[in-house]
Amino acid sequence: MKIIFDKINSNGKPFELEIENVSLIGTLQKSGYHRVSLNAKINGNVKLNCDRCGEVYNYKFDNNLKLTISDQLIEDKDDLDIIEFLDGVIDIAYILESEINTLKSSYHYCDNCCSDDEDFEVEY
Ligand SMILES: [Zn+2]
Repeated sequence: MKIIFDKINSNGKPFELEIENVSLIGTLQKSGYHRVSLNAKINGNVKLNCDRCGEVYNYKFDNNLKLTISDQLIEDKDDLDIIEFLDGVIDIAYILESEINTLKSSYHYCDNCCSDDEDFEVEY
């Protein structure tokens, strides 16, 4: 799903997308010169491998996503939640895919491993 950067105005443009049982629903809104803010909810189920016991389990993905999108190169990267789309086309599918991939590449433990060992440190 692709949205032209210049077509987004300050009234906000709603969008809705689903990939692999995970949906991203929200709005894009012009927030400044060469800036668009994305406000969305991620919802769905992702199959993950537990990093402790190796079991595949269903993770309930339920997150708020707030990002700033720019069609210019950002020199000052203090704000880590900035995504650049230099060709002026915002690829919503890319954003959702990278959120899912970030989740998959982080450490995560199934419910059994989380609950039966309280000393075990869970890192996200
Ligand atoms: Zn486990």
